[in-house]
Amino acid sequence: MDPDDARRRKLLNILLTGITIIMLLVLTTAAVASLTGLEEPQLIRMLFLPSISVLVSTALTYVINRLWSGQFASSLFLLLTTIAVAFTDTPRQVVNGRSLFLFTIPILMASVILRPWASFVMAGVSSLVITVIELFVLNRVPGVPSMLGFFAFALISWLSARSLENALKDLRAINRELDHLVDVRTRALQQANQELAEANEHLREMDRLKSRFLSMVSHDLRTPLGAIQGFAELLQAEVYGSLSDRQENAIDRITANAKQLLHLVNDLLDQARIEAGRLSLQPAPFAPAELVEDLESTMGILAESNGLTLTTNISDDLPERLQGDKKRLRQILVNLVNNALKFTEEGGVHVQLYRMNGVSPPRWVMEVADTGPGISKEDQKYIFEPFRRVDDSITREHMGVGLGLSIVQQLAELMEGEVTLESDIGQGSTFTVILPLTPAKEEA
Ligand code: ADP
Repeated sequence: MDPDDARRRKLLNILLTGITIIMLLVLTTAAVASLTGLEEPQLIRMLFLPSISVLVSTALTYVINRLWSGQFASSLFLLLTTIAVAFTDTPRQVVNGRSLFLFTIPILMASVILRPWASFVMAGVSSLVITVIELFVLNRVPGVPSMLGFFAFALISWLSARSLENALKDLRAINRELDHLVDVRTRALQQANQELAEANEHLREMDRLKSRFLSMVSHDLRTPLGAIQGFAELLQAEVYGSLSDRQENAIDRITANAKQLLHLVNDLLDQARIEAGRLSLQPAPFAPAELVEDLESTMGILAESNGLTLTTNISDDLPERLQGDKKRLRQILVNLVNNALKFTEEGGVHVQLYRMNGVSPPRWVMEVADTGPGISKEDQKYIFEPFRRVDDSITREHMGVGLGLSIVQQLAELMEGEVTLESDIGQGSTFTVILPLTPAKEEA
């Protein structure tokens, strides 16, 4: 449907509704006045008939507007209004008295409910009505000024209605353009979303494949590595005959390298297991002191061979026994101490276990501090991510694939704990693992 036509029909409906309400009010007032005998019956009768005719014409126009033609309904409405205006007063008053200005109402309405130019037609109709009254009722030659006034008014109505229609047209064009733009953008967004979803799915698939590949390769590497280590140890124990110093030296290097490789493969396997959500903790009662003794005996030699000190301390307020996965706690400590010894060139590493004060629920801490090169704030942002290492000469000198800290952090999170790092270039590093303190659940 033509939007202008719809707007005009709606406007006519509003006018008709307004007129109906006024007429109903007039009729009710007349009925009340006649019942209470307040007014002359003559006057009431005079009001009654016109009101009823207006109501009937309004209803007719409404039906035509609704069911048939808006244009026809508007023309009929304007014509009836002009006729009504012509009969509202004495012919003299209609022609050049107080009722003359009433003709401007249909002229103005014509420009908005019919067409902007219809105001001129209505000015013509009004002029015709006045001419007829002057010629045939008042028997005199019609005067020109009032008709000129009608046309001047029609011109103003035409101009304003035309600019209103043009403005509406522009607005509709802008609206259409906006709709189109929204449509285009929505479609682009939908496509981007779909591409993103596909890329996401692809990434997830790649991640699954990577984890599977890691776990398969690590597994297949571990078996032959175990065999190499086993046979090297048998050779070392001179099961296959006595060894010369040079042979012994070579076998020492084989076992050291195999051990390092095995450590790497184990890290890869753990990372794959954690990523696949297949690593579960085995909590049991354990003594923190044993954890530390164990650490000293395995890492002490390495510290000594690097010319570094490894000191430990357990605070008195830490319970003698706790509940936790000792193997994984040990792995966290070994990874942190291993790094500390690997990157520190002078000084030493200090390991502390203590209870955190004033926190609820209770927590305990494993802290590893070193006097090494430190880690810049910039590098601290990513070193906990898997396979990430600081790309400098010290790191490149040392073995490693960048999994140690990632495993430490993921294990701590599995234990519902967290890892923090305090460090800066030249300041050494302190890694703090904060864990929930669960009292040992000893079996009776
Ligand atoms: P890797 O030791 O195999 O390189 P990690 O995940 O354990 O992998 O460590 C990541 C990086 O963080 C290391 O390569 C190193 O650059 C830095 N880093 C870790 N611990 C220390 C430390 N104690 N002192 C200085 N740098 C460290």
